[in-house]
Amino acid sequence: MVAEISGDFCLLTGTKPVAGRRLLQRWKSFGLQVLRLIGFLKGSWGMAITFGSGRTGNNDSWLWDDEAKAPFSVALVKNLFRKDRYEYRSHKMKWESWVPIKVNILMWRIEMNRIPTRLALHHRHIFLTDLTCPLCEVVDESSCHVLADCGFSFCVWSSIWKWCKLDPIYVFDIDDLLHIHKNVKGPKWAKKVIRGIIMTTCWAIWNACNKKVFDEYNPKVAEVVVVVKSMSFLWHKSRSRFISLLWKDWVVFPLYLM
Ligand SMILES: [Zn+2]
Repeated sequence: MVAEISGDFCLLTGTKPVAGRRLLQRWKSFGLQVLRLIGFLKGSWGMAITFGSGRTGNNDSWLWDDEAKAPFSVALVKNLFRKDRYEYRSHKMKWESWVPIKVNILMWRIEMNRIPTRLALHHRHIFLTDLTCPLCEVVDESSCHVLADCGFSFCVWSSIWKWCKLDPIYVFDIDDLLHIHKNVKGPKWAKKVIRGIIMTTCWAIWNACNKKVFDEYNPKVAEVVVVVKSMSFLWHKSRSRFISLLWKDWVVFPLYLM
């Protein structure tokens, strides 16, 4: 069945005449809704639709943007959002495809300083008797401290840099963590692997911190490092094209395939 829409008129071809009248009414209403949607998409996003003709047999097609002249696709929508066409976006964090969404979301919240650290809760007027970091019990717990400054985190990061054969990196804030992968030499995937490992490490440190608070369990640096290595192996093997990844090689050097 093919619909041709012009103004508020909707023509159907390929339908049986018996059902025509009732169906046509429904299509007219549908057609108006489609036209409103097209107007909105064109006005807001520069998107246009061309309708094929039932007589010529052409298919309807979506066109995206006057400049690109490219067919509509979800990838182009994502690109549009990333281009920050209509709004200034100051975030530096990029989503990494091979780590799970929960890890990406945590990283996004960390960058926006939206994780519930003790200091953040205190700023939201939640009464807490102790604001110190659960891991080192020395400095007030902020997202920057727990993931970058903390002595516990420093030891975890040192092991991770050693594992990745990167020179020791002193991380002073969250921005540093979001930029480290850019300095990694090698192909695009080498940077992606390091970015994912950094995200996994933040996730593992934050989990260790929560374990201490809620389960009264004293996390150990070595345990957090093992979690980073094993979870990143599992995710990288199952969520990227590197299905031939081997644990025995990964655990020695995660970029061995690059
Ligand atoms: Zn600390």
